[in-house]
Amino acid sequence: MTDSFATMLVHDDLESGPVVPPIHQSSLFTFDNVAQMVETFSGGNERPIYTRGNNPTVRVFEDKIAALEGGEAARGFASGMAAIAATILAFARSGDRIVCVRNVYPDTYRLMRRLLVRLGIETVFVDGRDLDALEKALEGASLLYLESPTSVIFETHDIRAQADLARQAGAVSVIDNSWATPVFQRPLALGVDIVVHSASKYISGHSDTVAGVAIGSRERIRQINTLTYPFLGGKLAPFEAWLLLRGLRTLGLRMRRHNDSVTRVSDWMRKRPEVAKINLPELSNASGALSGRGGLFSIELADGVDPIRFCDTLRLFRLGVSWGGHESLVFPMAVGLNQAGEHNALVDFGVPPQLVRLNIGLEEPEDLVADLDIAIRAAARNGKGSQG
Ligand SMILES: *Cc1c(COP(=O)(O)O)cnc(C)c1O
Repeated sequence: MTDSFATMLVHDDLESGPVVPPIHQSSLFTFDNVAQMVETFSGGNERPIYTRGNNPTVRVFEDKIAALEGGEAARGFASGMAAIAATILAFARSGDRIVCVRNVYPDTYRLMRRLLVRLGIETVFVDGRDLDALEKALEGASLLYLESPTSVIFETHDIRAQADLARQAGAVSVIDNSWATPVFQRPLALGVDIVVHSASKYISGHSDTVAGVAIGSRERIRQINTLTYPFLGGKLAPFEAWLLLRGLRTLGLRMRRHNDSVTRVSDWMRKRPEVAKINLPELSNASGALSGRGGLFSIELADGVDPIRFCDTLRLFRLGVSWGGHESLVFPMAVGLNQAGEHNALVDFGVPPQLVRLNIGLEEPEDLVADLDIAIRAAARNGKGSQG
């Protein structure tokens, strides 16, 4: 009998009795005799040798997230970016072209525009909603990189159609599923080859861990394991894996709460004249892939409503980057647009300065609405041309 998804989230299948796995805080693992060592080194068994390669606590997390995403195997990483970089580099080589959707996560964009170009890997950015443009761009490409919903503006795409186009073109497809998590969207079932996560966000869920993971077929993960993972060295630490396992047990409950609270807050915002636009996916999106919504979305404040005053007046929403934890957060794009350094995704993708990103945490939603109400009135009074 196979367990339901909700039970899989809670249950860890562990040897010898504990309900929580021990943290194998050991860099190496020793052998009883040379024969056993020889057997392990020649691939005859899966005993751990060294924690950069394999660690039993990390393995419990990898097996669990692989099952939750519907994949055969997973590889944990030190961060989401470590997972993304090691995955792309395992499937793209010098002279190759990558096709990537617009409004991708800003550091994924910089990885492509700064580092991959130096290695002779070109990236073309395409509107992920435009399947004709995607099909054209994919001719001769080796990899399709997806995000749905996208970062910052939260566009949703027809993931199944995108994955089909990649397969027809002979390109490996990769999707960042950090926002939806396997609770609300399982891209492998839609035909995508590899799912990557910033596990620093919802999978951790408590803003105390930076981690990442890649999930796919045994063969795809083997390629990452043999080509990039051991040499780039961005391994997931045993303690971080243990924290991620703790996060996963409540992931279903937390996502349900984020979904309900973001619905409450966005319904309230829809009636506010100070809010010109709400960027939050509707569940009736093209591919019908989303079964719920995370708490991260963005709003465009109306002309004359001051985004800086809005952010500074909020009390429960703390000013900060990242998202996916217990706490509500706010990030004004006016700040991101001014971030130093070349290849600013927010500038290059045309994100407007009136845009503010909100992360709805696990607080009482009525308290959040009350906080937003005070801040939005203050921001409108402060702005030019307000009615008081
Ligand atoms: C944060 C984030 C990442 C990067 O993950 P890290 O764990 O910070 O390296 C990748 N994708 C998305 C959508 C993110 O929000």
